[in-house]
Amino acid sequence: MQKDQKNKIVIIGGGYAGLNALKKLAKDQDNEIVLIDKKAYHFMQTDVYDLIANEHDFAQVSVDLFTYCMGFDQNVTFLKEEIKSVDFKNKKVISDRKRINYDYLIIAVGARTKFFSNIVGLREYAYGVKSLHRAMYFKQKFEMSLFQKIDQEGTYCKPLNIVIAGGGLSGVEISAQMASFAQEFYKNNHFLCRKLNIILVNSSEHVLKGLDEKLAKFSEEHLNKLDVTIKKNAKVQSLTPTTVSLTNGEEIEMDFMIFAGGIEPNGLIFNLKLSKNQQGYLETNEYLQSIDYEDVFVVGDCTTIYDKNQNRLPPTADIAEQMGRCAAKNIMRKVTEKKLVKHKVRQRGILIALGRRYACGKVFGFYLHGFPAYVMKKMIEKFYLFKLDKHSKKGCQKIFCTPQD
Ligand SMILES: Cc1cc2nc3c(=O)[nH]c(=O)nc-3n(C[C@H](O)[C@H](O)[C@H](O)COP(=O)(O)OP(=O)(O)OC[C@H]3O[C@@H](n4cnc5c(N)ncnc54)[C@H](O)[C@@H]3O)c2cc1C
Repeated sequence: MQKDQKNKIVIIGGGYAGLNALKKLAKDQDNEIVLIDKKAYHFMQTDVYDLIANEHDFAQVSVDLFTYCMGFDQNVTFLKEEIKSVDFKNKKVISDRKRINYDYLIIAVGARTKFFSNIVGLREYAYGVKSLHRAMYFKQKFEMSLFQKIDQEGTYCKPLNIVIAGGGLSGVEISAQMASFAQEFYKNNHFLCRKLNIILVNSSEHVLKGLDEKLAKFSEEHLNKLDVTIKKNAKVQSLTPTTVSLTNGEEIEMDFMIFAGGIEPNGLIFNLKLSKNQQGYLETNEYLQSIDYEDVFVVGDCTTIYDKNQNRLPPTADIAEQMGRCAAKNIMRKVTEKKLVKHKVRQRGILIALGRRYACGKVFGFYLHGFPAYVMKKMIEKFYLFKLDKHSKKGCQKIFCTPQD
């Protein structure tokens, strides 16, 4: 029997989870897919450390979503809209300007930096790195501060103090990258003024709590080698424009601070009338469907899931990608009235950037560190970009080619 109507699938969020779902769903011409993102680009957060260390510019850590979607057949459209709410009963997603119908919905809006309201001055004086504009602003401020020290203070300069709060994956990567960037910066130019203090504030005894112990130990040793000062068992209590007070009573002078001490689901999630866990993340079943509506799937950092041994899976790009593919598969099975499959999402490995051309990690049970780990991390990033680039190039050709071409 010929189908007369296409399956309209709306994906909110063009991050790692959303784009992986899109790619799988787009293969079937019976699917009409609308990708919606409040930004015009996909931001590769996993490469932020290279942006900060000036190895990449912003174009190398972002992918234009319009040209990317143009690279698929006619069945994929991109809309740049911020979704404000969803009418689940009437199956519509709602922005300030539009109401878009769906048959199936994938919510993939990710997470944002949680600026805790009980930390005085946090929102005003700290930077986050989960959005490209904040990461860029911070990178420019960092470089400008280094320059000003040299330009204005010359030989007698005071050290530049940068505080990073949060010893998780992003806090560790950024501390290491900034420390090694500064080492190179001073080495290359023989400046007299050459003091940069990087202070990492960590709430527990060791960094990377909850991650593989060997990797955590290795990372901490490497941070020590890079001269990063780690304040252990301490949290940020309050900030002024020039100081950070810690819960252990210490007060640190600072030029600026990055807050990597917590995330929360993106704003839209707060407005949705769906089941959530205590931390506010959307709850899903083993098929990645929302608990409340079977035509709604939730993937990536805006939900929390567990592996088959009931270990809570961390919010990583790899896990978001696996979830995106699984939700797409289950939508296709629903369309064809097949039994849904339980997700088999698992942590396949982790690679931690620890400064220029240095990393450590564990992949499929094997440890690696130093330059080989760095090369592996780069290869994964390049492969990810290569896959996106294929569609972006096609999209570009479509837009700029004349019909005769
Ligand atoms: C500094 C740093 C380093 C990291 N390093 C690694 C690493 O090495 N390896 C790793 O695996 N993971 C790493 N991560 C984690 C990884 O980036 C995240 O887990 C991943 O981005 C989650 O993907 P996602 O698709 O759920 O969300 P995101 O990638 O955050 O995408 C969500 C999308 O939703 C859009 N959106 C949000 N709200 C709305 C709305 N209301 N309407 C429309 N669109 C909306 C956003 O604009 C965004 O494009 C790192 C994160 C950071 C910050």
